[in-house]
Parts: sequence; structure tokens; C-alpha cells
Amino acid sequence: MAIERTFSIIKPDATKRNLTGAINKVFEDNGLRIVAQRRIKMSEAQAQKFYEVHAERPFYGELVEFMTSEPVVVQVLEGENAVAKHREVMGATNPAEAADGTVRKLYALSIGENSVHGSDSLENAKIEIAQFFSDDQIVG
Ligand code: ADP
Ligand code: MG
Repeated sequence: MAIERTFSIIKPDATKRNLTGAINKVFEDNGLRIVAQRRIKMSEAQAQKFYEVHAERPFYGELVEFMTSEPVVVQVLEGENAVAKHREVMGATNPAEAADGTVRKLYALSIGENSVHGSDSLENAKIEIAQFFSDDQIVG
């Protein structure tokens, strides 16, 4: 195992319900260190680009609309095996299938409004981090 960095978003359904701190506590309690964090209102162009792999999916328009509906918190998390650890702590995409104690089981409202994003590979983590943070904004 190695120290990795992954990209995280606390999504609009969660920021709206004041869950930023509660979700960060789950991350920190699981050994993920928040080494960069910023609250932003995503533009339509940013959301479209971020989720462009899903452009052909039926939920793409709804997803872009959701991600731009309220502020989000973009983050870089660092830790041992951070990409897989973060995915584990987030839980399954559909909260109905998420394991007990995971962020999505605890807080997600639906498969779309599911409170958090996490990179699915180290390669995508690097690409996603670079979309929102410059190197000097990440303090490990
Ligand atoms: P994950 O976020 O777990 O990596 P995906 O990459 O498959 O999941 O999907 C990206 C995001 O698109 C999900 O987190 C969710 O917000 C939304 N989404 C996925 N599937 C659906 C669906 N069937 N209906 C509505 N929104 C969805
Ligand atoms: Mg994904």
C-alpha cells in the first residue's frame, strides 16, 4: 500500500443540509486527511466536463443540474490506499445498497442525490484534482 491522493466532492444535497462537518468526520475517522478544501458553486461547464464520461447516460442532464443547484465542497484527501479507502467509506452509488456506517447509507437521499463523489482510480484522481486545484493549493 502507498500514500495516495484522491478527489472528493461533498454534493449539493449534503451542503444544503449542513452535513459538511459530519461527512468530513467520517473521512477523518477513517484515516483520510483533508489536504485541500474549497467551497464553490460549480458552473454548468465545469459540471458537464467533470461528468463527461456519463454524457450519453439518461441521467446526465439531471446530474449536471443537480451539481450546479447549490454550493459543493471540493476536496483532496490523502492517506494509505486513499482511492479505494474513500470509495469504501462513501458506500455504493445507490444508498439502498450502501453498507452500514458509510456516508451514503447515513446521509444520501437517492441514487442521484447521493451526498458525495470520489475518484474511481488513481489515474482519474490525478485528472479530477487538476481540474479544481493547483499543486500549491494542496498542503500535505
Ligand atoms: P459513483 O458516484 O458511485 O462513482 P457513477 O460514476 O456511476 O457513481 O455515477 C456518477 C453519479 O451520477 C452518481 O454518484 C449519481 O449522483 C449519478 N447517478 C448514477 N446513476 C444514476 C441513476 N441511475 N439515476 C440518477 N443519477 C444517477
Ligand atoms: Mg463514478
